[in-house]
Amino acid sequence: MLGTTVVNPIFATVRTSIFESMSRLATETGAINLGQGFPEGLEPEIVIEAAVKALRDGPHQYPPMMGLPGLRQAVADNAKRFLGLDIDWEREVLVTSGATEALTDTFLALLDQGDEVIVFEPVYDAYGTLIRRAGGVPVPVRLSPPDWALPLDALEAAITPRTKLIVVNNPMNPIGKVFYAQELSALSEIALKHDLIIVADEVYEHLVFDNRPFVSLFGLPEIRDRVVRIGSAGKTFSLTGWKVGYVTAAPTLLEPISRAHQFVTFTTPPALQAAIATGLNLPDSYFADLRSGLEDRRDLLVNGLRQVGFNVAAVDATYFAVADIRGFDPHGDDLAFSRRLTVEAGVTPVPVSSFYGARDVTSHVRFCFAKHRETLETALDRLARWRQGQSWKAA
Ligand code: PMP
Ligand code: GLN
Repeated sequence: MLGTTVVNPIFATVRTSIFESMSRLATETGAINLGQGFPEGLEPEIVIEAAVKALRDGPHQYPPMMGLPGLRQAVADNAKRFLGLDIDWEREVLVTSGATEALTDTFLALLDQGDEVIVFEPVYDAYGTLIRRAGGVPVPVRLSPPDWALPLDALEAAITPRTKLIVVNNPMNPIGKVFYAQELSALSEIALKHDLIIVADEVYEHLVFDNRPFVSLFGLPEIRDRVVRIGSAGKTFSLTGWKVGYVTAAPTLLEPISRAHQFVTFTTPPALQAAIATGLNLPDSYFADLRSGLEDRRDLLVNGLRQVGFNVAAVDATYFAVADIRGFDPHGDDLAFSRRLTVEAGVTPVPVSSFYGARDVTSHVRFCFAKHRETLETALDRLARWRQGQSWKAA
């Protein structure tokens, strides 16, 4: 029998992602899945039709390693239109198979054994494992409710001579935080002072609500050459299964990242790239409608959860709402509560403890509101019945 030593020690201990395991439980039980972040009913027809046409017309062979020129231009143009960024698409844009591959390539290309990487908790689950597998050491710095402000003293204290990168997820999953201008300039000053690179995971850039401004770290001129900006068509076009992502960075950073990319996936399906180029070039109204449609669903879910009795924080961005469970579960075991809610109420969230390395914050669960209004209404109905001790199966 094979011993456990054949497995790399990092993957020997990594568990199945909470998004996958809660989705499986939702499928098994017939619960409404508001756990894993994927939209329902928001996929733009015109982008899907563009993919169908591209599949019919071809080509079907390896596209250029950096990505289709049309998509790289569209990435640069979209960033110019919405964020005022000036990007040289030929030298500064790389297409990847999702933001996950973009993160992987970036860590593989930039990290050396023992390099430290600052991440902000609650943190997206992929970062820690990918950083460690690339030889780095994740160093968590914790943001705290209710305002989730950037803790500058703690950040300064976490920086050592081994620190190389800071990963900033802005807007931030799962808490929906959009970093304030002062926080971005503080990050920029710190990056310059300590000679650090910033990995800006901006996959939720188009999901910012209530006319709140969004500023990309790549747009700060003093650090433009030390920011790796990552985007995802999965979020912008509600097509998470397509796995099309992009990296924008100055050539000194993009070149090593693209060398990592050539041995991780090399390319991304050309028909999907062509269709996403169509999507990024859609008129402003597409992006405005996406935002207002999600705002509407956010209000429906957040108000509904509050009526059921959850304490829910305001949501400025992303498609996630975070609810405090202590009114229902004084022990605050968010994983057990998420399973219980799935089985007893027929509604599945994900536990926010999965976004903490030490899993010691267990008082909150996350619900995704990028769903049909009817799905959210049925979920709220089920939660109200559960509250009254009634079974959802009878509904
Ligand atoms: N970063 C964050 C913060 C995310 O929430 C996600 C979504 N799953 C990703 C990266 C990965 O995006 P993709 O599906 O394009 O790989
Ligand atoms: N990013 C998505 C979320 O936060 C999930 C991605 C995945 O399932 N790997 O729900």
